[in-house]
Amino acid sequence: MPERLFPALAAPPDKEAIRFGERSLDYAGLAEVAGRLARELPRGARVAVWAAAELETCVAVVAALLAGVPAVPLNPKVGARELEHILSDSEPALLLAAAGTEVPAALATVPRLDVDLTRGPAEPLPEPDPEAPALIVYTSGTTGPPKGVVLPRRAISSTLDALEDAWQWTGEDVLVHGLPLFHVHGLILGVLGPLRRGGTLRHLGRFDTGALAAELNGGATMMFGVPTMYHRIAERLDGGDPELASALGRARLLVSGSAALPVHDHQRISAATGQQVVERYGMTETLMNTSVRADGERRPGTVGVPLPGVELRLVGDDGEPVEGPDAVGEIQVRGPNLFTEYLNRPDATAAALAGESWFRTGDVATRDADGYVRIVGRKATDLIKSGGYKIGAGEIENALLDHPGVAEVAVTGEPDPDLGERIVAWVVPAAGAPLPEERELADHVAGLLSPHKRPRVVRFLDALPRNDMGKVMKRALGG
Ligand code: ATP
Ligand code: MG
Repeated sequence: MPERLFPALAAPPDKEAIRFGERSLDYAGLAEVAGRLARELPRGARVAVWAAAELETCVAVVAALLAGVPAVPLNPKVGARELEHILSDSEPALLLAAAGTEVPAALATVPRLDVDLTRGPAEPLPEPDPEAPALIVYTSGTTGPPKGVVLPRRAISSTLDALEDAWQWTGEDVLVHGLPLFHVHGLILGVLGPLRRGGTLRHLGRFDTGALAAELNGGATMMFGVPTMYHRIAERLDGGDPELASALGRARLLVSGSAALPVHDHQRISAATGQQVVERYGMTETLMNTSVRADGERRPGTVGVPLPGVELRLVGDDGEPVEGPDAVGEIQVRGPNLFTEYLNRPDATAAALAGESWFRTGDVATRDADGYVRIVGRKATDLIKSGGYKIGAGEIENALLDHPGVAEVAVTGEPDPDLGERIVAWVVPAAGAPLPEERELADHVAGLLSPHKRPRVVRFLDALPRNDMGKVMKRALGG
C-alpha cells in the first residue's frame, strides 16, 4: 500500500490540528469530518474548493485528498474573467464551499456541496496512487495568465519531507500564518505541512502583526510569510514595537518565500529581534527547491541550498550548465518534488522541460562556492540588457531600498535607442522622509554597485501593483 499522505490523522485524537480564531478541530474531529465528506465526493471527477481562509477550506481539501479526488482551490477574490478561465480549464464536477458562503454567478453552473463540520466514521479510506493528480493549483499569474499545475501526492509528500528534514519540523511545532489557501505556500506548506506530521496550524484569518505577536506569545513556534508581511513587520519594529520584537524573538523559525525578501528588511528584523528569517525558494510547478537548514548559516539575499532530494543546476543561454561563483544561469531542477504537467497545455509542459526531466524555472541565479543560490530575477522580466551588460533587477532594488527615502521599489528595463534597454526605477517614497532627487538615487546605486547599474529614469508612485501574494506585477509597469 502506498505511503499515507496524512499518517498523523489517526493519532493523538484530542490534539489541536487547525484553528481559525475561535473555531478549531482536533485530530479526531478532522479525521471524522473530512472522512465523512470524503465518502460523499464523486470519484473520477474534479472538485473545486472555494478557498476562503477558514476551517472549511482545510476540511474540503483534506477530504478530497483522502478520497483521491483532484481538488482545484479557487481564490475567493478572483475576478470574473480569471474565474471563467479556471472553470473552463479545470471543469470541476462539484463546488465545495462552506455552508452559507455566497459565490460569484459564474459558479452557479457548478453543482454545490456545502462543507459543514458533521462527523462520520473515522475508518481510513484506501490510500490513492502516489502518481495520481491530487491538487490542481493555479500559478500566481505574475508573468501571464495563471496556469493549472497538476500535482501528484508524491510531489506533496516529498516536498514536505524535505522541509521536515531541513527545518527540523516536527509534530511538536505550532505554525502560525495568515497566508491565502489557494496557492502552494499557504495550502501545501501552511496546511498540509502541519497535518502531515501531527502538528498544529493556527491561522490568523488575515495577517495582522498584533494577532501574530499574540500567537507567538501563546506558544506558536514557526511563522510562514511572504515578503510584504515581513516588510510590514520591519516597518513596525522600526517604529518601536517591543512586544512584537520579543514575540518574534521567541519563535523557533521565521520563514519567508514566494518572492525575494529584501536584504534591508531581513537586516531590520534581525537587528530588532535577534531572529534571522529563513528564505526558501519554490514554485507551484516544483514545490520547494531550496532553503537554509534550521541550524545552517543564513546569508541574506540568498535562498539557501537545494533541499534533500532536489537536484539543481544553472544553465547558460547556450543550454549548457555553467559553474563557478561568477556564472549566471537559469535555475533548472529535477527531483520527486516536480509536477506532472500543466493542465490542458501539452505545449507549455514540453517547453518547460529541458530533457532528462530537468525543469526550466525561468528564474536566473548565481551560486557561491558553498552552494548558496542567489536569485538574480526572472528571465522574462528581471534581466535588463543595457549597454552590453546583463543586469539583474533584484540587486538594484536591494541597493535602492538601502536609501532612507525609498519605501518600496521595482526595477524594470525599457527600450532605449543607445543602450538597448535602460534601467527604470519605480519608487514608492518613504513617508516622513524628504522626497529623494532622481540624481541622488542614481548616484546611490552607482556608488554601491557600479556605474552601469545606475537607473536612467526614476518614476515615483504611491504603491506598486501587486498580486494576492504581494508579488510585484512588472507586466503592469511595462516591464
Ligand atoms: P506565473 O507563473 O503565473 O507568472 P508565479 O511564477 O509568480 O506566476 P508561483 O508559482 O506562485 O507563480 O511563484 C513561483 C515564482 O516565485 C518563482 O519562479 C520565483 O520567481 C518566485 N519566488 C518564489 N520564492 C522566491 C524567493 N524566495 N526569492 C525570489 N523569488 C522567489
Ligand atoms: Mg511561474
